[in-house]
Amino acid sequence: MQKRYLMAPGPVAVAPDILAKMAEPIIHHRSPQFSAVLTRVREDLKYLFQTGNDVLILASSGTGGMEASVVNFLSPGDRAIVVRGGKFGERWTELCETYGIEAVNCDVPWGNPVAPEDVARALEANPTAKAVFVQAHETSTGVKHPVRELGELVRGRPETLLIVDAISALGVYELPADAWGLDVVVTGSQKALSLPPGLALVSVSQKAWVMAEKAKLPRYYFNFLKERKAMEKQTTAFTPAVSLIMGLAEVLRQIREKGLPALHAHYRRLAEGTRAGVAAMGLELYPKVPSEAITVIQAPAGINGQDVVKILRDEYGITIAGGQAQAKGKIFRISHMGHLNEWDMLVALAAVERALSRLGGKTEQGRGVAAAQAYFARPAGN
Ligand SMILES: *Cc1c(COP(=O)(O)O)cnc(C)c1O
Repeated sequence: MQKRYLMAPGPVAVAPDILAKMAEPIIHHRSPQFSAVLTRVREDLKYLFQTGNDVLILASSGTGGMEASVVNFLSPGDRAIVVRGGKFGERWTELCETYGIEAVNCDVPWGNPVAPEDVARALEANPTAKAVFVQAHETSTGVKHPVRELGELVRGRPETLLIVDAISALGVYELPADAWGLDVVVTGSQKALSLPPGLALVSVSQKAWVMAEKAKLPRYYFNFLKERKAMEKQTTAFTPAVSLIMGLAEVLRQIREKGLPALHAHYRRLAEGTRAGVAAMGLELYPKVPSEAITVIQAPAGINGQDVVKILRDEYGITIAGGQAQAKGKIFRISHMGHLNEWDMLVALAAVERALSRLGGKTEQGRGVAAAQAYFARPAGN
């Protein structure tokens, strides 16, 4: 059997000790043992989100957390500002439209971060907007949006929430919910937390809870008020994803043990080492402001990025990701998220070099790997 590497931006590789935790016999969710786990997980989630507020745990993929963040805070006919610069920004717009929310789109060319002035202007033109929806990291382009600056814009507006899709950002780099005024922060299990897909985690500020009490959009399964009530009794409104939560408990325990800065440093190191290799290969990054979650590389002229992805997957057993929609064929994306280390990054670079050479690229084999090696040979923290 071929050895396989998963280096796509979700789902990601899961460490064996975490897989083993999730394979343990199921415990009942209405039991003192599970309540104890849940209570600890909720405390550890506050540490991860850097918040004093509640973090809700939902059994769904990340998009469920996004949908929940629309239906719990808005009412039919409300207006919301959406930063739209990629596939996931488009998802916010689609969700708003599905629920009869008027989306005022702040369109951003793919590969660019939003200019805070543009959001400020949209807020001035639409003072009744109930929310600003944004991605912390737009995974389809690899761009980091300036959510800290957006937090400043929204902070003084008691009737407007900043709702952040941090599904591929939280845990990767500094994103303190309370300090930056991020009212609602959504993440998912299958990205930076290195778990299987199936959990959405959402932090809710006090300001957002006030809005939740007034919101009139219909909701049943994703009802935050119901979840909050259940939380007071150390339980969940519906059957939680027990095994995933056992895995999450262990991941969070390890994060707390090493500290959030160590997790951020890990991702920075993988991203910087990989990028040293990419630069040495004469390739360019696609995003103007790249995140440490993934490295998004422009396919060299005359080479289709999809062919690189295909050769890696079908011949080398390595799954990276291509581009979506308008970026299809133009880019390929290597994830740093998941159970990966610097040796895996060398594997990815070596594979990309070989595939590019197969496709007629001009890069000399080994250049990228050598540059990444030189980077990784430096002790961590330098
Ligand atoms: C992966 C991702 C999502 C979608 O999450 P699903 O788990 O596939 O529903 C949404 N937003 C961003 C930024 C993502 O990276």
